[in-house]
Amino acid sequence: MSTWIIVGVKFLFHVPITIELFFSYILIQTLGILLIVYIMESNKEKQSLLYKIIRMEKVEVVSHLAASISHEIRNPLTTTRGFLQLLNESKAIPEAEKGYLTVAIQELDQAERIIRDYLTFAKPTTEEIESLNLKKEIERAINIIVPFANMNIVELSSELESCYIKGNAGLFQQVLVNLLKNGIEAMPSGGTLSIAGTVEKTLAKVTITDNGVGMNDLQRNRLGEPYFSTKETKGTGLGMMVVFRIIESMNGSINIESEQGKGTRITLAFPLNI
Ligand code: ADP
Ligand code: MG
Repeated sequence: MSTWIIVGVKFLFHVPITIELFFSYILIQTLGILLIVYIMESNKEKQSLLYKIIRMEKVEVVSHLAASISHEIRNPLTTTRGFLQLLNESKAIPEAEKGYLTVAIQELDQAERIIRDYLTFAKPTTEEIESLNLKKEIERAINIIVPFANMNIVELSSELESCYIKGNAGLFQQVLVNLLKNGIEAMPSGGTLSIAGTVEKTLAKVTITDNGVGMNDLQRNRLGEPYFSTKETKGTGLGMMVVFRIIESMNGSINIESEQGKGTRITLAFPLNI
């Protein structure tokens, strides 16, 4: 704009382009714009850094809490389970009432499972890293989630290529199951959940697509923050945090695309283990 104005002024009014004109119209404006852009960008960066630090601090607190809680709760659970098991074998208790004991034991097992599932992020270093067959792992996760999908009238479709990545099988299952579960929960009136496992150059990719409620930008940015859940009493808001942690420990990456009302696509990428 400044250049055109100067050219216009020169030709229309035959004004000579002096040094002052050059400075005031071209140099200062350009420098000014650069300066403003620079300030805006660095401000933005600072802001996002601040958010990151706040988020990391939260994760830290939760991890410490989780580590101690899981330890303290597991022990009494194990003891209780042992005594219930003994009672279950006792002859003094009528068969009809043993059903209650079985239910109690099952419920304890469920509680133990929840602790195990949600509290692994307290230990970010994966033990027993092995070579995982992506196709097999995804199939296993799908098998686990089938009853839940059926209950929600969600159809599962999968397209899987066989390849190998490095990681801990248990933790990787946790990632897949959490993501599949979220996908299903995002479709309260049913739909299709597609899962793809593909190889792209040096990366193994897992794509999970749902056509559910989706997220807005704010929700998408808060994903992975502890206790962020839109499911009220049904959600814990810990699932995605666990997912982020585990993927990080596997040197993988996660990409989330989502549109409110249309659905969500989550893409994981891991280095191939050849
Ligand atoms: P929870 O499932 O217990 O609510 P998560 O950490 O798994 O906790 O997920 C956090 C929130 O992210 C969910 O409450 C939901 O709002 C949003 N979310 C996660 N996955 C999806 C998805 N596939 N579609 C729409 N929203 C999602
Ligand atoms: Mg979840």
